[in-house]
Amino acid sequence: MNARPRPHLPMRPAWLCRNCAAPWPCGPAQLALVTEFYGHSIALAFYLAASMQEAIDDVYGLGLRPDLPALHARFLGWLPLARRPHRR
Ligand SMILES: [Zn+2]
Repeated sequence: MNARPRPHLPMRPAWLCRNCAAPWPCGPAQLALVTEFYGHSIALAFYLAASMQEAIDDVYGLGLRPDLPALHARFLGWLPLARRPHRR
């Protein structure tokens, strides 16, 4: 019993992990996303960008001002895609 681990999914509108309470995507969530989207890094980037937009909307919905650079770093900054060099 209790064989299935609880997934690391975001709890809105705070966007904290339902499992470990870290800001989503937490480390385990990032690992799960990379595994789920393996070979589809563009799709993963679109998914995370859409999630970031929803998080921004939620922050506005709470009557707060989102910290856009921090949200970008949190949702997209850990992607290898977003870390590529500016010129080659
Ligand atoms: Zn988590």
